[in-house]
Amino acid sequence: VLHNRLVELKGNVRVHCRIRPPLPSDEEFDGQASQDSSAPAGVVHAVDDETVLVRWDRPAHRSIHKTYSFERVYGPAESQQVVFADVCPLLTSLLDGYNVCILAYGQTGCGKSYTMLGPLSKDERGDLGIVPRAAGELFRLISENPSRSLKVDVSIVEVYNDDILDLLANERRPAVSGPPWEAPMTKATKREMSPPTRAPVRSAEDFIALAAGSLRFQARRATRVHARSSRSHLIITATVTAAPAGGSPEDGQSLGPRLQGRPAGGRASPGPPGAQRVGEQVHAKLQLVDLAGSECAGVSAVTGAALRETSFINRSLAALADVLGALAEHRDHIPYRNSQLTRVLQDVLGNVRVPHPERPQTTGCPGATPPCRLPWGALLLL
Ligand code: ADP
Repeated sequence: VLHNRLVELKGNVRVHCRIRPPLPSDEEFDGQASQDSSAPAGVVHAVDDETVLVRWDRPAHRSIHKTYSFERVYGPAESQQVVFADVCPLLTSLLDGYNVCILAYGQTGCGKSYTMLGPLSKDERGDLGIVPRAAGELFRLISENPSRSLKVDVSIVEVYNDDILDLLANERRPAVSGPPWEAPMTKATKREMSPPTRAPVRSAEDFIALAAGSLRFQARRATRVHARSSRSHLIITATVTAAPAGGSPEDGQSLGPRLQGRPAGGRASPGPPGAQRVGEQVHAKLQLVDLAGSECAGVSAVTGAALRETSFINRSLAALADVLGALAEHRDHIPYRNSQLTRVLQDVLGNVRVPHPERPQTTGCPGATPPCRLPWGALLLL
């Protein structure tokens, strides 16, 4: 459903698809799943740069073939570098004042965390993912034009069982070490009321160190599908702010069509992530999102607390699909408040302005001639 909603927003969001290489664990999983699941296993092929073919083999039946189109398809051999090269221009958009969201979605084990972050443990081989590369590119672009006096604050939260948990708060919870990666059961209703920590970062290295440190706290758990399945949505938000009021006038002129503290919808947003500090002008926000995998409880064979997590994950993904559907259909009410995930993403999701066939375009992009197609983000299907 989430995928269909994204496809409906074509022209406003870009959907890319990445097919990961087969892993030794896949065979073992396929064997088990075929014994006790009625769902036939699907085989995915990249037909060309824009088309994917999925084939479902059903014992004693004809196979089913279906093709899907994307704006870009990466085959199993495609490198992290190539994937990043396609989203890299969004960092320039960010510094031009546009909110940007890069979001990975798909089933558990399909390669979302690998794509966004890179290998998560020393045992895994591979190259850096989008988050560290985006950090490097962001600071490279900032250093190219020091007169703009932009600064960057980072907040990192996870949405776990519909609680927003601050992964940068040191008291968050003790580091989890060694498998099984038991998810903490802390209820965070109070913390959800206060904005998460916003840590100033001065370099890509600071940014990466924060992200890497916070990942130790993220809720992960072994399931049949994935030895370190993430049980929460991870949202890394980098807020770029311009020089405080009273700064050099030149700053104000060089920033392009900036959003200046005006979140999506034009209303002040008191909520997370990261409330604006007094006197600051929010230039733009970058959100890097590693969604928890959609999951079929029967296939991943989860029970107890893990089953509860799965139900929260699937519900919040459905809430995200509802928001995208409401945006696509120009509904007056966009149900951001139905889930903590959509609350956290509200600012960037609110930037998706689907041109209405009848109504004049109201745009969050000053100076642009309608229809305003914000280069707000790339969405990766994995
Ligand atoms: P997800 O976050 O979707 O649950 P992961 O990113 O953790 O899945 O990937 C599952 C496993 O597949 C990990 O061991 C990861 O290292 C491996 N993997 C995923 N994508 C790739 C890739 N493009 N190249 C090599 N290994 C990959």
